Amino acid sequence: MTIPSPITATVDFDRDGIQHGFLKLPHSHDASAWGSMMIPITVARNGEGPTILFTGANHGDEYEGPIALFDLAHTISADDLSGRVIIVPGMNYPAFQAGKRTSPIDAGNMNRVFPGNPMGTLTEKIADYFQRTLLPLADYVVDFHSGGKTLEFLPFCCAHVLDDKDQQAQCVAAMKAFNAPHSMMLLELDAASM
Ligand SMILES: [Zn+2]
Repeated sequence: MTIPSPITATVDFDRDGIQHGFLKLPHSHDASAWGSMMIPITVARNGEGPTILFTGANHGDEYEGPIALFDLAHTISADDLSGRVIIVPGMNYPAFQAGKRTSPIDAGNMNRVFPGNPMGTLTEKIADYFQRTLLPLADYVVDFHSGGKTLEFLPFCCAHVLDDKDQQAQCVAAMKAFNAPHSMMLLELDAASM
């Protein structure tokens, strides 16, 4: 039996135009018995074409991506597109609100809990929604990270060393097209849950 995600989206991924809404994740806690965590999402679509998914605040203390993506969400025009752009500036929204790498609610480190779990912690539920709902919609994914509180990053775009060399070649092509000041191949030592 497949367990459905507890997250519902207030946006219609198949509708043309610009929609600003939320990913609504039920979160029962002391201050709100039937509360929900509302994670901002923007969908911009203009007809058929590829889909790109932009994500920020996978780690909540890495603010550069969320700032750029909230700006993009406020300025993007569907008329400029052929296809669809999905923007989630604050993936781990409680961590982003707290300015912390991990969630203050469950200590979840988003990029260490994939593929997530629809019956798990809040962080695992968010990861599961990305894994099973948003990633399958996307032809391209750009996940913005930066140094956070403990690292200093040069501006770079990276592609990962992958077992699937066809996918790696496409990632390298996208990295070159991004044309950041530095480009880098990244071999993750802890990739299984990223
Ligand atoms: Zn990060």
